[in-house]
Amino acid sequence: MSDKIGIYVCECGPNIASKVDIDKIMEEISNLEDFKDVELVVRNHKLLCSVEGKKFLENEINENNLTHLVCAACSPRDHDTTFINVCKKTELNPYMYQIVNIREQCAWIIPDKEEATEKAIRIIHAGMDRVLYQQPLEEKQLDSNPDVLIIGGGIAGMEAALKLASRDRLIYLIEKTDELGGKSAKLNQLLPRQGVNLNILHQKLSNIKSNKYIKVFTNTELASIVGFLGNFEIVIKDVKDPENTTELLAGAVIVATGYELLDATTLDKYEISEEDEVYNALEIEEMISKNGKIVMKNGKEPQKVAVIHCVGRSEVGYCSQTCCSYLLKISKMLKEQSSKIEVVELFKHLCLPNKQDEAFFEQVKDKDVEFIRIKDVNVTGTSIELTDISDAKQKLDVDMIILGTAMIPAKETKYLAEELKVELDEMGFYQEAHLKINPISTNTDGVFVVGGAHGPTGISESMLQAQAAAGKIFTQLIPGQKIIPEVKVSEILEAYCTGCKTCLDVCGFGAIYFDEDKGISVVNEAICRGCGNCVGSCPSGSIRTRHFTNPQLYQEVKEALR
Ligand code: SF4
Ligand code: SF4
Ligand code: SF4
Repeated sequence: MSDKIGIYVCECGPNIASKVDIDKIMEEISNLEDFKDVELVVRNHKLLCSVEGKKFLENEINENNLTHLVCAACSPRDHDTTFINVCKKTELNPYMYQIVNIREQCAWIIPDKEEATEKAIRIIHAGMDRVLYQQPLEEKQLDSNPDVLIIGGGIAGMEAALKLASRDRLIYLIEKTDELGGKSAKLNQLLPRQGVNLNILHQKLSNIKSNKYIKVFTNTELASIVGFLGNFEIVIKDVKDPENTTELLAGAVIVATGYELLDATTLDKYEISEEDEVYNALEIEEMISKNGKIVMKNGKEPQKVAVIHCVGRSEVGYCSQTCCSYLLKISKMLKEQSSKIEVVELFKHLCLPNKQDEAFFEQVKDKDVEFIRIKDVNVTGTSIELTDISDAKQKLDVDMIILGTAMIPAKETKYLAEELKVELDEMGFYQEAHLKINPISTNTDGVFVVGGAHGPTGISESMLQAQAAAGKIFTQLIPGQKIIPEVKVSEILEAYCTGCKTCLDVCGFGAIYFDEDKGISVVNEAICRGCGNCVGSCPSGSIRTRHFTNPQLYQEVKEALR
């Protein structure tokens, strides 16, 4: 069949029509010298993305038996998918279509109508050159597994498990310690802003245990994982007996491994040891669970307690956001335990981000807790030397010190990130796909991160993230529905690959593996996102991305720059 290109120029109401000369574009495109041997159908339309416009385009493709299609309209971000979907209703392969942006790139940015028209003609011409080099691509349909692996049995992991199990998804919940609940289970009181109470947390724990869709593996870690959204092959291992492994299949993974607290003994300004009456906030929570109150190692109640905020904040380089409030909570607990206990809070900054926190701070102040704003502090045992905000130096000897230590990534984060091919941020937490608009997804499709695993996060926020991850999985993995992986992926031409492995380092999605037998790299097409990073890195030019091949790009650029 000989080539027949349809070129459809959208007027976008007055958006394009008033800024470029549509008639001139039609005339010039219809009479291009280098297309005189190609059959062209050149038409314009007032609003190509309207219902009527899409129907018009569909009819045009069918009635004219087009082999290629160029839509001269707006940004591909707006309507590329719209026109791809129109093609899908016809016999025309959607990869034989090209969008050309004459609105944002011509009409809206070039004040001179003649110049805008000239550029529009040039880039439509470039699109026509390119489309002739495009190849039809076929979408594959893959079976997908709706089951989910959740790594981490703290509050976020439990919440995600219950949400997913409520729609009959089979959940494998693995927890490295011997019990579920994480750090939340150690708490004795929650903050007002956390919006949940401890009974609800304990209820979740018992709901998990009785839920037939949730299989809990305690003392268990991830050993290995390969695969992609819808099809992950997983091996888990017993922490105490690593040879004891179990194989699982799941379609998605939620990482809910939480955070750890910085070890203050690693800080220069803290000369402390295990014998000293110095505790972090979680140790205090455990102490209350065990003894019912805050006591020293000799079982006696402390008479004077210093609570120090922001321990390690400058070393880690970020604020842990929740510690100011929970230190206030501990001061309040001390005062409620005995009003005779002197409590002094030493702080550089007070991070109280919402209005419940502010009211809570006022309540604690009313309980005769002293607050000293400091510039610097040195701790030796339970002896404190501080410089306050007015540069005055003070020495404080107390019976007990409680530290608000920085939240840091859990120990296993680096290992898991490598296994799951998920990037870490500069602080060492898992990197979200987008902080604001996609905070629970990662660079690996099908792997989600919730709670403290991607940075300091409170309980209620962790639970919301867990619910959001469950929601994403419900929409991405529908039982019985196939998934369609990206079609515009890279491929490595075996004959040219020298096996230098450069491409393995640049693929942020872990889509390339090395075939040791053949001595070449290979792209796993189900994982590849077609970003093109590897193409630019290959010294032998043996990688190409489908739909973005060098000849296709060359044709387009050559004409656009003519
Ligand atoms: S397809 Fe784009 S250019 Fe055409 S009417 Fe719609 S928004 Fe405007
Ligand atoms: S195009 Fe290359 S770098 Fe990008 S995801 Fe695919 S294999 Fe990885
Ligand atoms: S960078 Fe190119 S030559 Fe080197 S291993 Fe990858 S595909 Fe082969």
